[in-house]
Amino acid sequence: MAQASSDMQVTDASTRRVLLAGPRSFCAGVERAIEIVERALESRPAPVYVRKQIVHNAVVVDELSDRGVIFVEELDEVPDGATVVFSAHGVSPAVREEADRRGLDVIDATCPLVTRVHMKARRFAARGDTVVLIGHAGHEEVEGTLGEAPDSIVLIQDHDDVAAFTPENPGQISYLTQTTLAVDETAEYIEALRERFPQMREPASEDICYATTNRQQALRALLAEVELVLVVGSTNSSNSVRLVELAQREGVEAKLIDSAADVRPEWLTGVRAVGLTAGASAPHRLVEEVVAALRAHGPVVVEERELTREDTHFELPSSVRGPKAATGEQDSATRQDRDGGAA
Ligand code: SF4
Repeated sequence: MAQASSDMQVTDASTRRVLLAGPRSFCAGVERAIEIVERALESRPAPVYVRKQIVHNAVVVDELSDRGVIFVEELDEVPDGATVVFSAHGVSPAVREEADRRGLDVIDATCPLVTRVHMKARRFAARGDTVVLIGHAGHEEVEGTLGEAPDSIVLIQDHDDVAAFTPENPGQISYLTQTTLAVDETAEYIEALRERFPQMREPASEDICYATTNRQQALRALLAEVELVLVVGSTNSSNSVRLVELAQREGVEAKLIDSAADVRPEWLTGVRAVGLTAGASAPHRLVEEVVAALRAHGPVVVEERELTREDTHFELPSSVRGPKAATGEQDSATRQDRDGGAA
């Protein structure tokens, strides 16, 4: 994206500023998940099934559906022997076992950073901890993580849950979090838990992922300059919703939109500067289309505000890895693991 658009010279009072938060849009886990489905379409007999939305974005899901992918809620909708892709949000061990039992050809698109949380959940539960999982009930990632040790994990969603939490052994507690939470809010819950349970053990590295953290920091950095924030993302995208909430908590009007078609002219009345970002599951081109839609409502000058540059890549699963993926990606994935997920 250019630093500023060609209508930079139009700087009269009618010109609206559009501040692009960076990074925004696709993260490495989402890119990997979509590429896995694309490779499955090329290499497996049709149809390819995907359990749940591969990533939480309506546009991505619609486009893959148009290419023949069949999205299902549960494995009982997948015929025996068929190919099924597990979404980026991960699955519980029970789902894996069912797929094995049914002889399904499974391709796992779980983000490696989600897998890391699952591994910690197993490890903490195995050493006898009561594991607090901070997250949102019903989110697929949370369901998958809970399934790793259902008898040992307690879900905490808010301060009321923190207050009501009464573990059998308060001296043996650890915590984990969903990867796509609000950084500030989560820190408050952890602090409140620590006050009640000073011996609570923490994970060696943050579970909120680099992409979630970077998008929140980039948006926060421009909030003081804008009167309206537009977040491109779907309503079931946790990290997109967190971006809207972040802006609103700071007193800035914010709207979640799936695409440029959702931009309402009345939102722009009296607005001289718009902050624009996108959740980690929203394609980059949707942001460009929103800029074009804003131009339809008057001259704009576009300013790129890149706070952090991301270069994270994850290796593809060997079952879909081709010559292209076999070059270079191993190094990036290895570096990602070593650095604890931060880009
Ligand atoms: S938002 Fe984070 S955890 Fe989720 S897919 Fe992207 S990198 Fe992975």
